[in-house]
Amino acid sequence: MSADDHPSGPHGRLDPDAAASGPLRSATVVVIGGGQSGLSAGYHLKRRGFTSALVEPDGGRTFVILDAEPAAGGAWRHRWESLRMATVNGIFDLPGYPKPPIDPDEPSRTAVPRYFADFEHAAELPILRAVTVTTVRRADTDPEGGLVVESSHGTWSARAIINATGTWTNPVRPHYPGQETFTGRQLHTHDYVSAEELAGLRVAVVGGGISALQQLEEINQVATTFWYTRREPVFREGEFNSEVVGREIIAKVVADVEAGKPTGSVVSYTDLAWTPYARAARERGALQRRPMFTSIEPGGVREADGSFTPIDAIVWATGFKAALGHLDPLALRNDRGGIQLVGTQVTDEPRVHLIGFGPSQSTVGSNRAGRDAVAALTRHLNKRDPGVRPAVRSPAHT
Ligand code: FAD
Repeated sequence: MSADDHPSGPHGRLDPDAAASGPLRSATVVVIGGGQSGLSAGYHLKRRGFTSALVEPDGGRTFVILDAEPAAGGAWRHRWESLRMATVNGIFDLPGYPKPPIDPDEPSRTAVPRYFADFEHAAELPILRAVTVTTVRRADTDPEGGLVVESSHGTWSARAIINATGTWTNPVRPHYPGQETFTGRQLHTHDYVSAEELAGLRVAVVGGGISALQQLEEINQVATTFWYTRREPVFREGEFNSEVVGREIIAKVVADVEAGKPTGSVVSYTDLAWTPYARAARERGALQRRPMFTSIEPGGVREADGSFTPIDAIVWATGFKAALGHLDPLALRNDRGGIQLVGTQVTDEPRVHLIGFGPSQSTVGSNRAGRDAVAALTRHLNKRDPGVRPAVRSPAHT
């Protein structure tokens, strides 16, 4: 079954146009985003007895997931064609639902959405698509009052939100002098489909992260590449215990978000690993890194040493940042630009949890953050109204 094939049901998609014209609706918890993080949160909400706000709008504790995508898969629906199951870093199973055997040569953009769709169907999660949340604001000045969630298809009132909007919709697009005069093609990782479209060209690949390295490696097979990074890339040498390294990295990111610091790029915490594609690129001489060019001219780039390099296309593999624009009315950022968290909960706004954010920006992190956010939120709600305690139960498929 493909991600688009699942029928709508009482627990699933509704006609969003009907929703748009309907009255203000309410849910105890609105989960924003239906990728791995949002699905994990949905699973754990259901497990703790929260019911569908679509089926039981007047239930004691209810939830709904609003997702901007037209079908299951989150950002995986948009990964580039050549990112196969064999070349992803690894996709952790959704809670209680092991991945079926998947052909390692299948593109992740089809395999992962299919797996997510099957999970959603089995878990009977109340997901509305395609619904984009435009703003979240406080209903009034009462710090314990409700939140108002405005979307492309109607308005919801909520006691709390779990934000799981990922990063894919917020690509980082740096600006260099003269960029608008460039006569060649420019594209971001977000828009990259396959190396074939750049065959035979002179291509500048900009960025020092995992995506940059993967794209450099494959573009270099069909084009002449030039690799530009702001800093000298750091590769982890030798054997390492990935579990121990992973724990250390996560501890660093946790320390940053708990101190309210803005977090850096993924690679600034992890360094680069000598994966098979990194080794292949090195063997072909593709890893000759150049310092960032200083400006862009119609036919190429001006190098840091003042010389000129003719270029036909620039691939901006410059990463992504958390897509949180819809939360701006809540003013969650401090004056350093960071959002301080305790676990997944915003320190100054206990009704808001951020998952798939900071230390939980991975498929394993998303899973755990979904569980932790629901546990913390349930404690918060129990303190507020101890009378309403739904029975803990398991989703249908477990
Ligand atoms: P997403 O999958 O991005 O889902 C967010 C969802 O929220 C989307 O459906 C989006 O449409 C929706 N949304 C966004 N804004 C709104 C809004 N305003 N209203 C409603 N809905 C909204 N991690 C790994 O563990 N292994 C890997 O191999 C791996 N490879 C990666 C490769 C790339 C190129 C990138 C960029 C990341 C990779 N990651 C990997 C990181 C991993 O993808 C994420 O940590 C995880 O999958 C993100 O899940 P998520 O649910 O947080 O976000």
